[in-house]
This record gives sequence, structure tokens and C-alpha cells, in this order.
Amino acid sequence: MGLRAVFLDRDKTILMPKGREKYIYRAEDFHIPDNFIEALRRLIDQDYLLFVITNQGRIAKGYLTEKDVEELHNSLDSILKDNGVYISEYEYCPHNPRGSLYPYNIICECRKPKTGMIDSIRNSYEIEVSNSWMIGDSYKDILAGNKAGLRTIQVLTGAESYTHDADFVEADLVKAVNRILTEK
Ligand SMILES: [Zn+2]
Repeated sequence: MGLRAVFLDRDKTILMPKGREKYIYRAEDFHIPDNFIEALRRLIDQDYLLFVITNQGRIAKGYLTEKDVEELHNSLDSILKDNGVYISEYEYCPHNPRGSLYPYNIICECRKPKTGMIDSIRNSYEIEVSNSWMIGDSYKDILAGNKAGLRTIQVLTGAESYTHDADFVEADLVKAVNRILTEK
């Protein structure tokens, strides 16, 4: 028996942009609601491993750097740890073939909807995909999750309209976690 995991998209899934910001680039740009943290802790309590997988293709366009992403993840991680939530890995894809910045402007295997980030985690941990989940706001998250064999939940906290490809569509992360804990 492998381990159960929940793969989480980051922006507009677990983190909300602060104020009128549209994008989350740096630690000061995000807000994480208390009930989202509480929801993640309920997954930890049920022995799910948590992984954050995020496309950060705007690195390839020069809007932020890998250092910014790592600082943000450190800042997020300390907030979560203080609340009993342990993320096993943070993975990001810095690539975008439409960017201008070498060496990031390439076609890679990690940018969602490709499954590279999920595959590499799945290979390092013994993840049983049929009992594991992908939660994200974007159709790219859902396509990646489906291709990797995960069950998928689209949350409607992003601007995207809903996709027919997700196994479930829920209002937000709290509802998505409720779904996982009732479906298991
Ligand atoms: Zn990539």
C-alpha cells in the first residue's frame, strides 16, 4: 500500500492575492485565510502527504526570480508549520516557452498541464495515485491531475469558469477538503 497525497496548486487555490493585486510574486503579496490553514491541517490529521506544485512561468518573463519564489515558500512554510501543517515538498516550474529570459524560455516537462512535477514527487515518495488528489483552480491543474491518475477537484476561487474534466467542482479549499474526507 502506497501513501496517500494531496497535490495542491498554489495561487488562488491555497493563497489569495492581497488587495487588488492580480498576481502573487513575493511574500508580501499573499494572504492565506485561517480556515484554509485549518482545512490543510485536517488532511495532515488524516495522514495525507501534502505537496504544492505551482507554475511560475512569469519567471521566464522577468517578473520575478527563483529567489523570490523560494523566499515566498519559506515564508508560507513558517506560517503553516506554526499551525501544524507540514508540506512535504514545494515544486515550481519556472519555464514558459513564450518568455524572453534564457534559460527559462523553453518547452519543459514540468509546466502544468504536463505531469512532470507530479511524476517526480510520485517517484521519490511511494504515492498511491488512485487514493490521491489534485486540487486547483485552473483547467491546467485538472488536466495534469487526470493525466497522472489522481482524482481531481477544481476550486472556484480563481477567475476560471469551471471545467467538465474535474471529478468534482467545489467553491473553495475548505469545501474541497470536505469532499476528500467524505469520498475517501
Ligand atoms: Zn518547467
